[in-house]
Amino acid sequence: MDTLVTNSPPDDSNPLLNVSGLPRFKEIHPEHVEPALDNLLESNRAKLERLLANAEPYSWDNFAQAMEDMDEDLDRMWSPVSHLNAVCDSADLRDAYNRCLPKLTNYATEISQDPRVFQAYLQIAESADFRILSRAQKKIIDNTLRDFRLSGAELGGDAKKAFKAIRQELSTLTSRFEQNLLDATHAWSLSVTEREKLAGLPDTAMAMAAQAAKQDGVQGWKFTLDAPSYSAFMAYADDGELRRQMYEAYVCRASDLGPDANRWNNTGIIDRVLELRGEMARILGFKHYADYSLVSKMARDTDEVMKFLLDLADRSRPIAEKEIQELKDFAWDSDGVSDIQSWDLSYYSEKLRQSRYQFCQEDLRVYFPVPRVIEGMFEVVRRLYGLSITEKEGVCAWHPDVRFFEIVDANEEVRGQFFLDLYARNHKRGGAWMDECQSRKLSVNKSQLPIAYLTCNFSPPLEGKPSLLTHDEVITLFHEFGHGLHHMLTKVDYVGVAGINGVAWDAVELPSQFMENWCWQEETLEFLSGHYETGEVLPKELLNKMRTARNFQAGMNMARQLEFALFDMHLYSEFEPNGNKSVQQILDEVRASVAVVMPPPFNRFQNGFSHIFSGGYAAGYYSYKWAEVLSADAFAQFEECGVFNRDTGNAFLHHILEQGGTQEPIELFVAFRGREPTIDALLRHSGLSAC
Ligand SMILES: [Zn+2]
Repeated sequence: MDTLVTNSPPDDSNPLLNVSGLPRFKEIHPEHVEPALDNLLESNRAKLERLLANAEPYSWDNFAQAMEDMDEDLDRMWSPVSHLNAVCDSADLRDAYNRCLPKLTNYATEISQDPRVFQAYLQIAESADFRILSRAQKKIIDNTLRDFRLSGAELGGDAKKAFKAIRQELSTLTSRFEQNLLDATHAWSLSVTEREKLAGLPDTAMAMAAQAAKQDGVQGWKFTLDAPSYSAFMAYADDGELRRQMYEAYVCRASDLGPDANRWNNTGIIDRVLELRGEMARILGFKHYADYSLVSKMARDTDEVMKFLLDLADRSRPIAEKEIQELKDFAWDSDGVSDIQSWDLSYYSEKLRQSRYQFCQEDLRVYFPVPRVIEGMFEVVRRLYGLSITEKEGVCAWHPDVRFFEIVDANEEVRGQFFLDLYARNHKRGGAWMDECQSRKLSVNKSQLPIAYLTCNFSPPLEGKPSLLTHDEVITLFHEFGHGLHHMLTKVDYVGVAGINGVAWDAVELPSQFMENWCWQEETLEFLSGHYETGEVLPKELLNKMRTARNFQAGMNMARQLEFALFDMHLYSEFEPNGNKSVQQILDEVRASVAVVMPPPFNRFQNGFSHIFSGGYAAGYYSYKWAEVLSADAFAQFEECGVFNRDTGNAFLHHILEQGGTQEPIELFVAFRGREPTIDALLRHSGLSAC
């Protein structure tokens, strides 16, 4: 291992430096963050200079591998920091994190714009030895050259400077977008002291709200804008006026309207992000940012994506229209409501679902206690891929609720490990996600296995009862576990294309959405479900109802997803700063063409649409539906051969999960399925094939 060349020697007591093994979460404090990053960046810069000075002619061994190692060192240092920032947010950590972001961007931009580094990779690609490199190594070189070009490596003088400034500003803006949203989400809550106002709400939601109030030292119940609290309130609270208040606060987060109007307004940030991304694309010769974004994706171009989305819109629209009419009729018949509002949709939909199928998500909780679900999920992958998963005690994590597991395959080889952080709590970002703690790597100097973070926001165990999940939450867990398996079961030894690394955005949801299918199989539910008191398995009759209900409002749900995806594509291909269409107008136009429900004029959904402004989904939200075509079609193979067919399981493991980003997604898919994907399975699964 290289010695660190630095003016200030590394501080051995800094747990973010000289890492080996798992991150020492308990020892990491905000004051460690910036010095560790400074130290590592300085050392990486010095290493890079030495590589460039000594290593001609450049080869994989003397250059590309060393670059991978440096990137990886940086990831290993930064990954626990960014993870802690998401799951244990504090003002000091957030400050440290924010001070580091521009430094990281600077460093990344500096390398991505260094003509010497670009030339070194070019030289490797053009050398005679290139052809004897492994597929993974070649793909890393190809991807790197592509990304160099997309980062402006071929630009000269002023254009290069402008490009760099844009990237830096974007990094700050996108992070501010996210923080505004987080602050706005946490600032508002609904406190109620009279129980009769909360009629309709299920026990779980009431208990959670009572606990939230208790934590604040007040009487009554507190409902927040975090997903579990908000969605339960909107689906069950009988009081329409309170639902309206919750809805307004939620859809106006980080905007010019609502209870915290203009306090964390993202509107200006949105305009500027769009402007900068557009400029960035044009500097590189693209027509707009959408074209730029698609270069590294599976979809060929903007046209192909638009056609795909509009085709789905055409197919689902008649069904969505029928469904909204049924909902309106139901609201009229049951409550005499003639003018159904946005804050009534979830409420009447839940009532209609119950009247039609005679069950609700809340009724299902008793059958899905967390311990049973976790064991059952592990049993699924034991049957599919021969994996065994065991818990490791005594591993240092960031919260007492966090658990740690190890995956061993059928050949008794350890394949990976993961942290599981299931419950919602203060200072933890909402939603569910998988993130990388460490990637698989095998080289002369080092061998390491992949480690993942799986994070959810379920209701924590209460009053001695285990945490009880809805079926939707079980699906969420399977989804993230699917991402985790993609990361952990990889057999690729080079970080750049191991696991989910280097996989096109629009194909990356394949393994996750694929896993969701097992939550619906009778064979699975025999061991995945079990009443938390009696152990009784989910009754077959109830499962049948759930399956019939699965496509309840499938047309409306599809229309909603298409609205988001089309808005994203139109925004990144049409919006012009000071042009004749505002963001709101583009959204309104999309809604006019695909939505069957028009939200009220005060709805500022876009101000909280972090996927496309601060996440990685800019001109890429369509990826969810795109990947669903792949996942539905892949699962159809199991429907044909048996859902626990080990041969099919192994084929999926070998052709998809183990391959990471070494090949184009379409090649991997064809290797597994024996043909290109078709949309049929998706339409059939969503009940849309009739039209
Ligand atoms: Zn996902």
